[in-house]
Formats: sequence, C-alpha cells, structure tokens
Amino acid sequence: MIKVLEKNIADKIAAGEVIERPISIVKELVENAIDAGANSIVVEIKNGGKSYIRITDNGCGIENDQVETAFLRHATSKIVSAADLDSIETLGFRGEALASIGAVTHTELITKTKDNTIGTKLLIHGGTVIQNQGIGCPTGTTIVVTDLFYNTPARLKFLKSDSAESSLIIDFISQMALAYKDIKFRFINNDDIVFSTMGNGNRFNTILSVYKQKELENLVPVSYNEGDNSLEGYISTPAFSKTTKRSQIFFVNGRVVNSKILEKAVIEGYKERLFDGRHPITFLFLHTSPYDLDVNIHPNKKEVRFDKENDIIDFVSKGIKEALGTKEAVIEIKDIFREKTIEMKPEEKQGNIKELLSTKRERDVILPPKVSDDTSVVKDSTISYQLPQKVTIDKPLLTPFDFDDITITGSIFGTYITATDEKNFYLIDQHAAHERIFYEKLVTEYENSTKARQPILIPIIMEVSLSVKENSFSWLNSLNNMGYTIEDFGQNSYIIKEIPTYMDISEAEEFAKTFVEEINENTDLKNHVIINKLITKSCKSAVKAHDYLSMEEINALIKDLSKCVNPFSCPHGRPTFIKLSNYEIEKMFKRV
Ligand code: ADP
Ligand code: MG
Repeated sequence: MIKVLEKNIADKIAAGEVIERPISIVKELVENAIDAGANSIVVEIKNGGKSYIRITDNGCGIENDQVETAFLRHATSKIVSAADLDSIETLGFRGEALASIGAVTHTELITKTKDNTIGTKLLIHGGTVIQNQGIGCPTGTTIVVTDLFYNTPARLKFLKSDSAESSLIIDFISQMALAYKDIKFRFINNDDIVFSTMGNGNRFNTILSVYKQKELENLVPVSYNEGDNSLEGYISTPAFSKTTKRSQIFFVNGRVVNSKILEKAVIEGYKERLFDGRHPITFLFLHTSPYDLDVNIHPNKKEVRFDKENDIIDFVSKGIKEALGTKEAVIEIKDIFREKTIEMKPEEKQGNIKELLSTKRERDVILPPKVSDDTSVVKDSTISYQLPQKVTIDKPLLTPFDFDDITITGSIFGTYITATDEKNFYLIDQHAAHERIFYEKLVTEYENSTKARQPILIPIIMEVSLSVKENSFSWLNSLNNMGYTIEDFGQNSYIIKEIPTYMDISEAEEFAKTFVEEINENTDLKNHVIINKLITKSCKSAVKAHDYLSMEEINALIKDLSKCVNPFSCPHGRPTFIKLSNYEIEKMFKRV
C-alpha cells in the first residue's frame, strides 16, 4: 500500500539532507544572522556542537506573528518569485534551515524586532512547538540548539569526535569573520574564547585576530580591479611558503569556496617566484558579476563555477603578480632564517594555519585599529542583505619595485652585486639574474617574427647522437627561432654559423648543446611549456657564476634585469635578489 508519509517523518528525512552534522547548523544560523543584517554575532558551542550551539545576533529579528512560520519548510522572506533566483544577494533562500534544525533537535529561539517592545520565545522539540510566549529581550535573535539528533539516534553514529566536529566549526567561523570584516565575531568553544574580531572593517587586523601567527604580519596587500572584477586580500611573499595548499583561502562574492580555478590562478601568479612544490599563503577575496557565476552546483555552496574560467585565472594572477612586484615583496634576509626555523617543525605543525587556531586564548592584536566608513549592509522592512563589499585596504598600498631607486655599489666574490636604496641593502645574484634575462630574451625571441642574429668568425661544430639527428627538423627549427643559424655538417655534426645577439660564443655553444641533449623522441617541441622548460634548463648551464664583471657590465646586467617581466627570480624560482633593511642591520649592531 502506498501512503503519504506522516509530516514529522517526512520532515526528519528532509532535515537529514540539510543537517548532517553540527557545522551544518552553525553554518545555517550564522548565515541567517548575516542575512538579518547583524553587525555582531556570537557563536558558542560545546562538545563540538553536539550538545550545545548558541548563535546570538543583533540583526533585524523576526516579527512575533512570523516566528512559527519561519520554522515551516520552504518558509523564507528572501525570495518571492522565481525571477528572484537569478539575482540572489542573501546567503540563504531555500527556507529549509530552521525547519530542518527544529525537526532534529531541541531548539529555543528568542527574537525581537526593533519596532517591538516585546519579543518572542519559541521552543520546538523535534518539529513540534512546545511553547510560544512573549519575552523581554534585546533586538536581534538568539537560537540555542541542544541535543542534536536526539530523535534520530542512527545519525549520531556518523558524527566524528568532538574535536573533529569543533575544528570544522572553527574553520567556518574563521572564514566568515574574514569575509565579513564589518561584523564583530566572537567564538566560544567549551567556555573558552577562541577569538573575537573587532568588526571595524580592517581586513588585516581581522586576519591577525583570527589566525594569530607571527609570520602573517608580513603578508602583502593585493588590490586589483578590472571591469566587473575586483580582487583584494593578503598574500605571502615568496619568502614564506608551505608544502601544501591548505593555507589558501578564497572567497568569491563573500562566500568561502574551494576552487581549482583560483588555485591555478595562484600558481600562475607566483609562477617562477617559488620552487616547484611550494605553495603560498593567500587570503583572497574576489568579487565578480553574479551573472558569470554558478554557486548552485554543490548543495553546501562550497564549489563555484566561473563562466569565464580563463579570464578569472588571468585577472587573479595579474593581481597577485602586481602585489608581488613591490619592494615589500622582495625576500628579506631575516625571512630566510625564519623560514628555516618554520621548516624544521614537523609538517603538520607548519602546514596549516587553520590548525593554529587551537590556540585558545585571545591575544592582543598587533596593529592599531583603523575605522572604516564602509557600511555595506542595506536593510528594508522585510529583508536585509549584504551588498558586495567595497574594496578597502588596511595596510597601505605598496608601490612597485623600481630599479631606478637603487644604486649599485659593487660586487663581492665575483658572484653577488651589491646595491642600496634609502632603506635597504641588496644582494643580487649575478648568475640568477643572468639566467632570468636569458630566459626572457629567449622566450620572447622565440615568439618574435624577426630574429636578431650575429655571425661568428669561427663557426662552432656541434656533434649530436643519431636519435637527435632523426629529430633535427624540429629542434633545428626551435634553435633557429631563438636566433641561431645552424646547418647540417655531415654524419653526426652540425655547424653553428650565427648566434643570438645577446649571448657570447661560449654561452651560445653551451646553450645549444644542452638544449639538444635534453631532447629525445618524445619531446614535443610544439608545446610551449616544454620549450620553456628546455630553455630554462639550457640557460642554467649556459650562464657561468664566478665571473668578475666590470662596473660597466654590472650596470648593463641590472639594466637588462630591470626590463624583465619578472626580475625577482630566476626561471627555477630562486630569488635574483634579497634585501637586508637598514633597521635589521642596526638591530644586528645592537643600535636599536
Ligand atoms: P532562509 O534563510 O533560506 O530564508 P531559514 O529557514 O534559514 O530560511 O529561515 C527562514 C526565515 O526566518 C528567513 O527567511 C528569515 O526571514 C527568518 N530568520 C531566520 N533566522 C533569522 C535571524 N537570525 N534573524 C532574523 N530573521 C531570521
Ligand atoms: Mg537560512
């Protein structure tokens, strides 16, 4: 016999889809508080949220006569018509959360709107209203949820340990605190304050309040706009990197997301600034047109899909590159020592900034607060919603590194060029700089239609293996593209008659030989990535360290370096220069 399920059974089943674990409840309630226009939210949990969750907000509250309605399935104030679905500005809109939470817990809700003098207290046990009465309370809403899954015990056994559940919640609240820097968040776990933010719009302070880590003080700001897109946030300089991507946090239009596309953009933005296998720390906030975005592909809204993926990668990586092209992003000698000590800790300890949140106590925030005039919360009588946040920057925006500001003072060990500006002393690695210049010249030359070649008086004879000879068509073509003129010279030999203008003979010879040696029958010379890799490798062997350069040669080298797209590192990710600040020097001499 087919029967329609009793309402409370149907509700329990539906609730199971929305509420999987304590974090699901916390997430829904915090999002409701934000949608209600709150600028102060307290989250308190006990036992990983299994036994107790309290969310208190100072938002708009719920009208007395609508409190019970709010707990009905598909009851929402946030959308009215299907057309609204295309332009959702609130975090919730399905009208399922309160109904689901009410169905599988003991829920107590206390709420009042600002126009009412008396509020409402509602008790719901397993979807049934136990009590609904007037109560004196401040404007806003408090929801206390206890005894999760008391009436669906089978679900209890899918819950993880208290600490595993609470760490999910900590991650989430931290991310919300970052995304909503104008909202004061306070998070209490088992009676301990884990963190509290000032909610004054200062992103940088918020990051430090939440992730209390010394190394984060050195993050550099990102602020980049183009058309509909804006990017802001903070990222680590190449001096600080991790072995995993776990310290990369992305927000898109205010929502924290996982995104392979944004991860790619980060890799692209840090390209050649970090060694392979190293990952930066990023707190990146992207705002893009909601029309170019699909946030619905995953029920918990963690994944987003961009309509124009390549544009996003391009945009975000450009923003990162700009931020990394500043004086502040130049690797500091003291950072290198610090990185070493971080490195020596076991992997789990250093890998994940989120784990550092287990620090229980509040700590003073290091930077002075800055008041922001950014009031991005709009309210009307029925709904309140968050406008895309304006881009505000708390650390002063940094100026691009400019080679014209530095004065060359000489060189040491025939290897390092020394230079200074007003505040810093620089060491420039001649060899790395040279590699970078070569690399960029070769790569651009490769793509140029006209090549600059120079004939050489005594041609170079180059011997190759048989298999290389078989492939000669493609590699001859590649080297020709870079400015070589090479001809067949019988059996296993080739003759080099012209070389690129910017190489000397020995460099040109070494480069061509390495390039050819690295090629085998599987090398796809039409693939740019492969060509670039080959060029990188060949540059390395072509450029010699320990060449004493004259002052003229040094100046020419720095001039060439300054013209590079990425003058900061060699193609392998080693820095081309590092700095020591005047302040650090004074510290070493105990002057400060
Ligand atoms: P949704 O958020 O999808 O609308 P919910 O079940 O989460 O659905 O909430 C139902 C309704 O209850 C919301 O649309 C809102 O009007 C009201 N509501 C829920 N939480 C709050 C809150 N903290 N402050 C004010 N109103 C709230
Ligand atoms: Mg909701």
